Amino acid sequence: MTSIDTTDLKTMFDAIAVAIEADKDRLCQLDGVIGDADHGIAMALGFGAVRDALASLDLAATEPTALLNTAAKSFLNAVGASSGPLYATAFMRGAAAVKGKATLAGADFIALFRAMAQGIQDRGKAEIGEKTMVDAWLPAAQAAAAADAAGKTLSESLAAALEAAERGAEATKDMIAAKGRSSRLGERSLGHMDPGAASAVTVIGAMRKSLG
Ligand code: ADP
Ligand code: MG
Repeated sequence: MTSIDTTDLKTMFDAIAVAIEADKDRLCQLDGVIGDADHGIAMALGFGAVRDALASLDLAATEPTALLNTAAKSFLNAVGASSGPLYATAFMRGAAAVKGKATLAGADFIALFRAMAQGIQDRGKAEIGEKTMVDAWLPAAQAAAAADAAGKTLSESLAAALEAAERGAEATKDMIAAKGRSSRLGERSLGHMDPGAASAVTVIGAMRKSLG
């Protein structure tokens, strides 16, 4: 059975930081088309700050909830853009979902993952179809939950989540932005992928690779 401890979670956040750093320019370019061109910078600053904060934790004496709350705080402090509070809420909700657990079984991690997606939706109040990161995160969480309920392994469930996130991000090209900065563009946002949905794919892909 899968057992994820704080060392595994730190490794996962390190992997996300590397993946986001490598994707920074593309994310800024996507945001340049329908936003203010800073999304890659914001995400790289956020996950860089998380990596630094986790590096100074005593992992043997830290439970997953505390690690995730540290991630939330450092992400929020580092990021002034809208993605700051959205991901900070995701990590805080994830922290609450695994409270009291020293290590996480596969199903615990799926619960954490779902709580992250729900946190993003609750914080930003975006619905599916409004061209935001919710269009990647929510289907990903639903796919992960469905795979887990069908008895799939964590690795398989995260693979299903990644596929759903990719489809969701692709689908944002056909959406008119209704939330956030790009909503000011109205129909001119059509035809372009939402940068937050694109980075969600990168984040989820790194999670899958790290834990798979
Ligand atoms: P800003 O728009 O402040 O520059 P970023 O560039 O970091 O922030 O992030 C932009 C992304 O944030 C968008 O592409 C979208 O996915 C996401 N976003 C913006 N507002 C919301 C919201 N209310 N709910 C969910 N996601 C949102
Ligand atoms: Mg921006």
